[in-house]
Amino acid sequence: MNWEHLSLSPEERERYLRQLAMGDWSEEDQLKLKSLRVTIMGIGGAASSIINNLLLLGVGEIEAIDQDTVELSNLNRQFIHNIEHIGISKAESLKVYAQRLNPHVKIVAKQLKIDETTVNETLNPETDVIIDTFDKWAFRSIVNRFAVKHKIPYLMAGVVSNCFYTAFLHSPHTPCLNCLMGRFQGASLAGFFQTSIFAIDILPIAAMGAFSIAELIKYLKTGETTNQFYFGSLYNTKQDIRFFSLFLSKHFKKISEEQGVQWGPVWDSEGMTKLKLSKDPACRICGNSQFEERN
Ligand SMILES: [Zn+2]
Repeated sequence: MNWEHLSLSPEERERYLRQLAMGDWSEEDQLKLKSLRVTIMGIGGAASSIINNLLLLGVGEIEAIDQDTVELSNLNRQFIHNIEHIGISKAESLKVYAQRLNPHVKIVAKQLKIDETTVNETLNPETDVIIDTFDKWAFRSIVNRFAVKHKIPYLMAGVVSNCFYTAFLHSPHTPCLNCLMGRFQGASLAGFFQTSIFAIDILPIAAMGAFSIAELIKYLKTGETTNQFYFGSLYNTKQDIRFFSLFLSKHFKKISEEQGVQWGPVWDSEGMTKLKLSKDPACRICGNSQFEERN
């Protein structure tokens, strides 16, 4: 982050008047935010909440990537898109939304598919933060490897049923995604999920957007990630969280149990579960085993 040469225009000063009035938010914090270049994977429901917060807060630049076009069934939760944009790319739809909400934020939106062959030419290794809202763990795995390789802070966030989860990771200082979610390569699992329609509530999306971007703000102010994992549930009725719990690594299950949390296919407690994270020494992406493989 290189913010010292930046300043706020009179329009920006007026736009951000209320947040600049907060005791824990200084002009320096606003300028740090203005200097920030954020790359967002996916322009769907989770990204709607995250992008909205970043636009309102006044981030400097958002680069967003999604291969899809807007469909009617997106519109119950993907609120940055609208009925006039059905059939156009989510990338184009985002540009219109962002320009109307906060023209001070630079938007670079691309309609692209991220896979093993495109990740290196598509993602900018100089970006300040990658925010991963992809709904498929196989894609997240590719993005995680890129973030670990280039030591880029990596904020992952998502929604499952009436619950949400988020963690801000920064390898090698923290675990990587693979330390926590190590089972996304299974072809049988992928096949099962590709044929499913996931139940997604709209309410946890807003909560996820708030908790995840609060982690980004903490990082902006301190230069460090908190190394915490958040899992929030809005109701104490039984929630189907197989899409989340099936992918958990043995290491993550172990550190969860040590902190009194048991994961299963259903979740029926209400409120926030917070876990302290640690690296998996055997992680094949960020752990010691990657060096052993090279020898
Ligand atoms: Zn790892």
